[in-house]
Amino acid sequence: MAKQPDLYEHSIALLKQENVSIQSIAELVFFLQKDYIKDLTVEECIDNVSVVLKKREVQNAIMTGIALDELAQAKQLPEPLQHIIEIDEGLYGVDEIMALGIVNVYGSIGLTNYGYIDKIKPGILAELNAHKQGEVHTFLDDIVGAIAAAAASRMAHSLPLIQDEDK
Ligand code: MG
Repeated sequence: MAKQPDLYEHSIALLKQENVSIQSIAELVFFLQKDYIKDLTVEECIDNVSVVLKKREVQNAIMTGIALDELAQAKQLPEPLQHIIEIDEGLYGVDEIMALGIVNVYGSIGLTNYGYIDKIKPGILAELNAHKQGEVHTFLDDIVGAIAAAAASRMAHSLPLIQDEDK
């Protein structure tokens, strides 16, 4: 059996290949948490995204989701699945279900954060959702949003929150 690559490095490389950097995910985390954590920096967000990317369930979702997106992009999936994933059909929903595995790693705050950025689609999420000709990101947009939501939840649990009197 072939030796397994370091899945943390492998996941980062897969994201990079799709033009998704840790920095761009960290910016989503910053967007989610800036009003709640005093003196928050993007560097702190980067650290938390890195911790999330070390979780095996997150790495599994990245590998699986990007593989399906790539196969759909190359028109290699069997029909009717090929068409459904290629056009990012609204009723498909397996992309969101897979992302929930990531969202839940730091508890239920993750779910609120995920729902919120999925609706607003800031930064890199807008780019992934542009549905450019020939590009399929049906799974990737949910995975990226879920990683940001999980990192934001981790920070909410670990850092002093802004109290009302600080505002
Ligand atoms: Mg999607």
